[in-house]
Amino acid sequence: IVRLTGLNKHFGSLHVLQDIDLSVYAGEVVVVIGASGSGKSTLIRCINGLEEFQQGRIEVDGNELLPNGASRAALHHIRREVGMVFQQFNLFPHRRVRENVTLAPRKVRGWSQDKARETADTLLERVGIADQADKYPGQLSGGQQQRVAIARALAMQPRLMLFDEPTSALDPEMIGEVLDVMRKLAREGMTMVVVTHEMGFAREVADRAIYIHEGRIVEQGRPEAVFDNPQQERTQAFLSRVL
Ligand code: ATP
Ligand code: MG
Repeated sequence: IVRLTGLNKHFGSLHVLQDIDLSVYAGEVVVVIGASGSGKSTLIRCINGLEEFQQGRIEVDGNELLPNGASRAALHHIRREVGMVFQQFNLFPHRRVRENVTLAPRKVRGWSQDKARETADTLLERVGIADQADKYPGQLSGGQQQRVAIARALAMQPRLMLFDEPTSALDPEMIGEVLDVMRKLAREGMTMVVVTHEMGFAREVADRAIYIHEGRIVEQGRPEAVFDNPQQERTQAFLSRVL
C-alpha cells in the first residue's frame, strides 16, 4: 500500500533522509525506531505529503507523490486515505469531542450530520471514551485526548494509519490505554506505521521493525530479530541505550 523508492530529503544543507527504500503491505504493522533527530518524523510526514522531498518516489494506495511538491491531485487523495496521529494530539480546542471526530468526514466526505454522529459515537465507544463525547478536549486527560485523536483519524476510514510517538507526551499511567487501542487496531488488520520508543509494544505488535540512523534505514526485520539479535553495530548501540 506504501512504496518509497530512492527517497532523499534535505533541509537546507542537512541530508535528513538518504536513499530510503521501503514498502509497507496491506495489514502490516511497521514500527520505526531510531535516535532523536534520525529522521523518523520526517519519514512519516513524507508518506502523507506533509513534507516535500527532493528525489525519489512515494506511492501511497496507488497515488504517486513527486519530488518538490509536484503532485497536488495525489496529495489530496492521500490526505483522505491516510490517518495521522501526532505526539501532541492537535485536537480542535473549541470543539467538543464528538465534533472533533465528525468534522472531517462531514467536510471532506460530505456525510450527513446523522451519519457522521453515529460513526463518531461508535468510534468513541471503540476507543473507550463514549462518555466524554460532549466535553471539550481541555477537560480530558492526555490519554483520553490521544484516544479522541485516534478516533478522529479513524472517522475518515483510512487505508493506512501513521503514528508519530503517540504516547511520548503522556504521563506513564496513560500510556497503556493508548497502546491498548493501537493494539486492538493492529489486531483488526489496520495497516500501520508507528514511530515509537515503546519497545515492548513494538516487539509485541509489529510485523516488522525498522531502525533508522542518520536518515538511513540500517536494519529491518522481524521485531524479535531486530531487538534480540541485531546485525548492525549501530542498532546494537542504540538498543543497549534504550532497552
Ligand atoms: P525525534 O525522535 O526527536 O522526534 P526524529 O527522528 O523524528 O527525532 P526528525 O524530526 O525527522 O527526527 O528530524 C530529523 C532532522 O531534521 C533533525 O536534525 C531535525 O533538526 C531536522 N529538521 C526537522 N524538521 C526540520 C525543519 N522543518 N527545518 C529544518 N530542519 C528540520
Ligand atoms: Mg520525531
